Parts: sequence; C-alpha cells; structure tokens
Amino acid sequence: MRASWLIKLAGGHIFVGDGAMGTRLQEMGFPVDEPCEQAVLSRPDLVLAVHHEYYDAGADISTTNTFGIERMRPRIADQVADLNRNAAKLARAVCPAGRLVAGSIGPIGERLEPFGPVRLDEARAMFTQQAEALAGGGVDLLLIETMTSADEAELAIRAAHATGLPVAATMTFQRSIGGTHTPDGVSIEEAVERLGAAGADIIGANCGTGHAEMVEVVRRMRALTQLPLMAQASAGIPEMINGRPVWPETPQKIVDHVKSMLESGVSFIGGCCGTGPEHIRVIRSIVDQHLWASRLTSI
Ligand SMILES: [Zn+2]
Repeated sequence: MRASWLIKLAGGHIFVGDGAMGTRLQEMGFPVDEPCEQAVLSRPDLVLAVHHEYYDAGADISTTNTFGIERMRPRIADQVADLNRNAAKLARAVCPAGRLVAGSIGPIGERLEPFGPVRLDEARAMFTQQAEALAGGGVDLLLIETMTSADEAELAIRAAHATGLPVAATMTFQRSIGGTHTPDGVSIEEAVERLGAAGADIIGANCGTGHAEMVEVVRRMRALTQLPLMAQASAGIPEMINGRPVWPETPQKIVDHVKSMLESGVSFIGGCCGTGPEHIRVIRSIVDQHLWASRLTSI
C-alpha cells in the first residue's frame, strides 16, 4: 500500500523539513570537537530535544543524526549498524502521528576509484549497511544529502532503493566563475539527469552558500525535471565571532527566498547548516500561507 504522504505529495502537497542537527547540538552544549553523530549514544537526550524542537516548530520531517557516519566509519566500524538504528529510533520516538522521519546518508568523505582509494563494491556495501540499519530503525524515507560526486550519489541511491523505501537525493552546489557546480564539478543538468536515472524519487540540493543561490538551483532544476524537488539551504557562510560560527541568514532574511522557491514548485523545503527551529517556524508559516492561497485559487 502506498504511504499516505506519498499520495499527498502526488497531489501537490508541500512538506516542511527540519534545520541543522550538528550546529543545533553544539548550541545545546554538545562538544564542538566531537562528531555530532556520537550524541546518539552519548547524549540521546540532546538528540531527542533537537528532533522535538523541529517537530514543535512545524516540521513535517525530521532527519536522523546520521549524516557523518560514513565519514566516521574507519573509527566506528563495529558501531555503524547500532548508531543508525538507534538514531532512527530516537527520531521515531518523538515523531508526531502523521509526520515523517528521514534517514540521513552523507558522503564517504574519500573519493571513489579510479580517482581515490574507495572501491565501488566497498562503497556499495557501506551504503547498503547504513540504508538497511536506518530502515530497520523505522525511517519513512532515506535522504542522501550533501553529495558532491554523481558516481557516489548513484551508488547510494541504488543501495537505498533496495530497502524498498522512497529515496530523496540532494547535492551541494556552489557558484563560481565557471557557473554553478558541486565541488566535484557536477553541473545542475548532470545532477538532475543522473540522480533521476539512478532511481531517486525526490531530487534537489542542500547546504551550499545560502538561500539566494538555492533559489537559482531550484529554478533551473524545475525546468529540467518533473520529479518532486527538495531544497534545504544553509544560512549563508558563517563568520567566526569569539570562536563560534555565526550564520548571516537570520529567519527574517530568508522569507523572500522561501517564497521564490515555493513559486518555483519545490515540494520539500527545510534548512541546512546554521538554520534552527526559528527558521523552520518561518518556513512553516510561509508554506501554510502558500498552500492556503493555492487551495483558494483551485476552488
Ligand atoms: Zn549544511
């Protein structure tokens, strides 16, 4: 049976995602020098509090604290399955009825062969283990995010798809003199083509340099695909003030950009690094106004 949220998605519903996990845990006192994914085992109370804050701010989806697990794998190989499963259970524990948990899968952190040391079959096995553990912990969808290599994204999408769960895949873009590409040189056109061809149900972009850039990425993606789009921008580029990162894009500064993304037909909108519950509260109210207005015009 098709999940009810997928039926709503097909009907044009817009879902609000959450904001950052890592930077929010640090604001709550989790040590800056420890990988934030360790909090799943060492400070589950803080992880629960972050998920709760985002649902309370109006997020339809909260994302598991598992983004950096592939990067950490050399140090925590025997904990990978438990960390993922427990992280999914923490989010599930505070997820209100009718809302969703997304299982986050991030990059491996080293390049794949033939450009780097990671063999393709190794990468496939890593993503499969993570995807299966997240599915076992009860997530509703898998979210492959902050990808910069299309080859790696494809492997992750295929591994995630094998669980039978819906798969969202987002890449990170930055504008430079040569145009807008991922740090590995993947263009928006190539990303749309390859994420879709690998079987992602939802595609898009996350992180990056802020909301203005994300508006452009969403517009260009919309012209290239009929797939539902996801956009989760960072709150700009942080400046270090008194040893702490400060992000320039406050909740009020993102209002017009969020409206532009909704007008461009985005189906999932949340935040990335530097965004917190107040950003999500603002996005929630703009999405509600947008959904209300589109209901009125369709009567
Ligand atoms: Zn980010």
